[in-house]
Amino acid sequence: MGSYYVTTAIPYVNAEPHLGFALELVQADVLARYHRLASDDTWFLTGTDENSLTNVLAAEREGVPVRELVDRNAEAFRALTGALDISNDDFIRTATDPRHREGARRFWQACAEAGDVYRRPYRGLYCVRCERFYTVEELVADRCPEHEVAPDVVEEENYFFQLSRYTGQVSDLLDSGALRVWPASRHREAQAFVARGLADFSISRTEARARGWGISVPGDREQVMYVWFDALTNYITALGYGTDADRFQRYWIDNPRRVHVIGKDILRFHAVYWPAMLLSVGLPPPTDIVVHGFLTRDGRRMSKSLGTGVDPTALTRKWGTDAVRYWLLHEVPPSGDADYTDEAFARVYAADLANNLGNLVQRTVSMIHRFRAGVVPAPVPTAASRLAVAARAVPSALHRGLDEAWDPRLALDAIFALISSANRAVAETKPWALARDEHEGDAGARHRLDSLLWELAESLRVIAEALRPLLPETSDRLAAQLGLTPAPDWRGALQWGGIQAGTRVGAPTPLFPRRDRSRSER
Ligand SMILES: [Zn+2]
Repeated sequence: MGSYYVTTAIPYVNAEPHLGFALELVQADVLARYHRLASDDTWFLTGTDENSLTNVLAAEREGVPVRELVDRNAEAFRALTGALDISNDDFIRTATDPRHREGARRFWQACAEAGDVYRRPYRGLYCVRCERFYTVEELVADRCPEHEVAPDVVEEENYFFQLSRYTGQVSDLLDSGALRVWPASRHREAQAFVARGLADFSISRTEARARGWGISVPGDREQVMYVWFDALTNYITALGYGTDADRFQRYWIDNPRRVHVIGKDILRFHAVYWPAMLLSVGLPPPTDIVVHGFLTRDGRRMSKSLGTGVDPTALTRKWGTDAVRYWLLHEVPPSGDADYTDEAFARVYAADLANNLGNLVQRTVSMIHRFRAGVVPAPVPTAASRLAVAARAVPSALHRGLDEAWDPRLALDAIFALISSANRAVAETKPWALARDEHEGDAGARHRLDSLLWELAESLRVIAEALRPLLPETSDRLAAQLGLTPAPDWRGALQWGGIQAGTRVGAPTPLFPRRDRSRSER
């Protein structure tokens, strides 16, 4: 048993949650659930980044106090964790949580005591929506490449963090693999960024420009912390940095796996700035950074104003939580971007969930009722079956996809290969014909039918166990239909051969009801 700490990035709350953040929550949730099932001492954090100037501007546009705006929008993010069945242990809010406000100030002081904070005049081009400075070379036609708006020219005295001092150490972390970025292409991207040399960065702004919103700099009331500087510290303030020494020791300092799941646009903050900040105060850096790409809709950037946004909560209401989780885990590759379309979502739902998995469960449970009065029969020992072979590939695929590396498709593909094999076994073995022959006194047919039904029930048991970190609700409903309760030893339960003859199955209920597309899309 080890320990494991996983976080999402904390999103800005100036807008409603979008499908891209749902992806991040589900990815982190799968990692947390996997490690809990593997008996690791696991802690899973998400939350909201609330000290951004964008919130002040959004509140001004709406004519409401900033606090009211961040409270309301933070609630939408919290509600999304419920809609997606996210198993986070904690939810931190950077504007309102005293742990964070106190911890972030302590962290600043520690950097200052290390000699890494200094003050100087600064003039730069600032995109408020990105909350970062751009160099002239980084702009596209004089505009922010992300938002296509002209940045503000900002000129003021700021505090700076001495990032340049850590170029060698951050480079060593990446080169030695003490800090691993997934996928490998993102690891190389971070290395290339460090190799160009690191410049010190501004970590404060004037109180006036921040409109009085944010966390003030210790010892200087006229300056407020740069939102990224305070936001990054959430990963440790939530664990009790500066406020709860025991928990912080347990989940950060003594923990061999400190994992951040993030989007590709904030790689540099997590793979370079944040490790350097931690080195400055003498704390260990993260060990793993899992980076996902962007989601587009119908080939276009997702944007509410363009009408190309996808509301993840609405999607779960329409299709069910696990259908959305499945789409995010199986249709989004670990590297590169992915495109969402209503048609492709409906196709995946019908093919993989309703027809393949849903159909297997329905027909297996129905046949056990019809042919064996609802009781799983004892198998007649036969040579190793194809289903046993497919099932034995599942535990190692889970390990490779969810622990050794990061590619949840490996895990799902192994599980769905078992599902397909089981459906093929039904088609080839023709249980209805066996039942007819059995009825006419053919003992061989009875034995073959016993063995088939046992193997199908056992396949479903393995599938239910294997889906626990991925599609937890489906796993529970499937196990309940099989008359099973979760086993305490999950790794053991993944092994073929666990279902007992005599197990009484429940009533067949569809896990993924078929959708009438013409009706659901109207
Ligand atoms: Zn921007």
